Amino acid sequence: MPSHYLAKIKIDDLDILGYSVAGEETVIGLPQLDVCFDIGKAPDQLISLNHVLLTHGHMDHAAGIAYYLSHRKFNGIDTGTVLTPPNTIHPIGEILNAWGRLDGNRIPANLIAAKPGDEYQIKPNLIARVFPTKHSYQSVGFSVIETRKKLKTEYQGLTGPQIVELKKQGVTIENPVEIPIVSYLGDTAYMDFSRLEYVSKSKILIAECTFFENEHIERANAGKHMHIDEFGPLLERMENKHVVMTHLTHRTSVLEARKMLEKRLPAEVFKKIIILMDHSRWYRGK
Ligand SMILES: [Zn+2]
Ligand SMILES: [Zn+2]
Repeated sequence: MPSHYLAKIKIDDLDILGYSVAGEETVIGLPQLDVCFDIGKAPDQLISLNHVLLTHGHMDHAAGIAYYLSHRKFNGIDTGTVLTPPNTIHPIGEILNAWGRLDGNRIPANLIAAKPGDEYQIKPNLIARVFPTKHSYQSVGFSVIETRKKLKTEYQGLTGPQIVELKKQGVTIENPVEIPIVSYLGDTAYMDFSRLEYVSKSKILIAECTFFENEHIERANAGKHMHIDEFGPLLERMENKHVVMTHLTHRTSVLEARKMLEKRLPAEVFKKIIILMDHSRWYRGK
């Protein structure tokens, strides 16, 4: 029996497995990319993913970090890599040491400070890029970007052997190309994310929208979260093909949230949206 009953969405060839309720738990894994955005309470199904991209240290996003790392050791899996804002490295280290003492076992961890502009290689053709968010001190978001090389236009008519010959001569015949696959905003107040091209053009945007009712605008500002009045216009400026919405509260049901989004957004924007915790949209394949 797995520890969690996770949402399961499939977008093209990517599975998105997760759970997200504001203040309770947020964890979103993409197995094909080998990344887990935040760790929540460390669901069993996501412990084998090798990279946790932690946006900030709040309990609902980070509570399971020691369990994630320790349980990998228990199961004989290599040490997990955690990209996390610089201010969280020391406290996480203290937590791991304390749990290590309680448990009688050192917890191995590869903690890497993630600050805006940093890039980290996840796989040979895959990087995680860090960007700033507006939530807690040093909070960040992450984009996972595929990197490819594309033949320069002037060489596109050449045969295989001609290309090999040019490469032998040391000629640079390719340009690097970036294909942003998914961007995760974590918790954040409104910022104009459409100004970051790799976020705006990511095929999938995973974004929080915590507040929906008019009277909650102040609460959204106080907690540094997004309100639908800010989220809606932002989405209209973004170029993402799919938008996965997370971090709703128990105050607004999925059904109500969907109705409000439908009322406020142009139809072509509304149809891009999947609410993570919307059971009716879950993929029921294997
Ligand atoms: Zn949160
Ligand atoms: Zn938070």
